[in-house]
Amino acid sequence: MSDTHYDLVVAGGGIAGLTAGLLSARAGRRTRVLTGPALGGQLLNIERIDGYPGFPDGIPGYELCPIVQEQAVAAGAAFSATPATGLAAQDGRWSVATGEGELRAGVVVIATGTTSKALGIPGEARLRGNGVSHCATCDGPLFRTRVVGVVGGGDSALQEALTLAQFASRVIVLHRGTALSAQAAYRDRVRDHDGVEVRTATVVEDLLGDPVLTGVRTRAAGGTVADLELAGLFVYIGLTPATAWLGGMLDLDPSGRIPIDEAMRSRLPGLFAAGTVRAGSAGRAASAAGDGATAAVAADRYLKDGAWRA
Ligand SMILES: Cc1cc2nc3c(=O)[nH]c(=O)nc-3n(C[C@H](O)[C@H](O)[C@H](O)COP(=O)(O)OP(=O)(O)OC[C@H]3O[C@@H](n4cnc5c(N)ncnc54)[C@H](O)[C@@H]3O)c2cc1C
Repeated sequence: MSDTHYDLVVAGGGIAGLTAGLLSARAGRRTRVLTGPALGGQLLNIERIDGYPGFPDGIPGYELCPIVQEQAVAAGAAFSATPATGLAAQDGRWSVATGEGELRAGVVVIATGTTSKALGIPGEARLRGNGVSHCATCDGPLFRTRVVGVVGGGDSALQEALTLAQFASRVIVLHRGTALSAQAAYRDRVRDHDGVEVRTATVVEDLLGDPVLTGVRTRAAGGTVADLELAGLFVYIGLTPATAWLGGMLDLDPSGRIPIDEAMRSRLPGLFAAGTVRAGSAGRAASAAGDGATAAVAADRYLKDGAWRA
């Protein structure tokens, strides 16, 4: 068989895709994983993955994901860093367009995850990399003993505020809502940390500075506008599912994610979705890994009997 024909192709090299690739290869299926731009996905930049089984003190994503990749390679999975750029049904199988040509497979597992949402305010694109960032682990050390801001009020925002507090002299969390939505464990740690301040009901309206960020203009709930001096701004206001490459082939839920059943099967035979790109994802690394495993096991069954959901 050539290296363009597979039982199963995984699109995505995050923890969901890596686990699907591992379990598929372990089942003896000819497996190819397309990792796209970031092997490890969102976890790649996380200093301490909390709540992942087996690691009571957390583990850096840049350590965990390469281990899973090595495991998958040892089991026989092939990897490439190229992205999937399109998908089409062909003669009862799937054709996956990639940066390195076309691949054919009986099953495709879509595990392309999410990308971080931008604020969508003027100057953001210009200042990204010049003070505006989505990665506390990568860019936090640049702001040693400086004051930085974090935008957002969920788990990611507070977790990354705590990472930044290891470097910055002060971290100011700016949240548009009146209450933080993060889980209690993060809220408590932030409340108890002298170096982290939370300002709720505060909207970041403008970014100041050229060519590098010097601060932000905020608007409080009562309408008061104020300028806040900041050396860096880290944005964690949500995630956008990476489904554009599917070209509308699947209906998506209102959040842009792929509806699936309990076995990670989409509406279309042979097409699975796993991890944060699928509807109803719990959004945690452990659940994404579990999705990948579920998809691989169900895919093996489908490749044997050809039965699909009703
Ligand atoms: C700041 C932050 C902190 C977090 N902290 C934690 C934590 O402590 N504990 C926890 O359990 N969870 C945490 N999470 C959530 C966790 O990161 C996600 O649940 C997990 O990464 C989802 O994995 P995934 O494989 O579904 O998607 P992603 O991690 O988003 O991976 C997507 C993969 O798809 C690839 N890709 C994208 N497009 C294509 C394409 N067209 N073709 C091929 N490949 C493509 C990307 O390169 C990447 O490899 C955090 C998330 C963030 C943002």
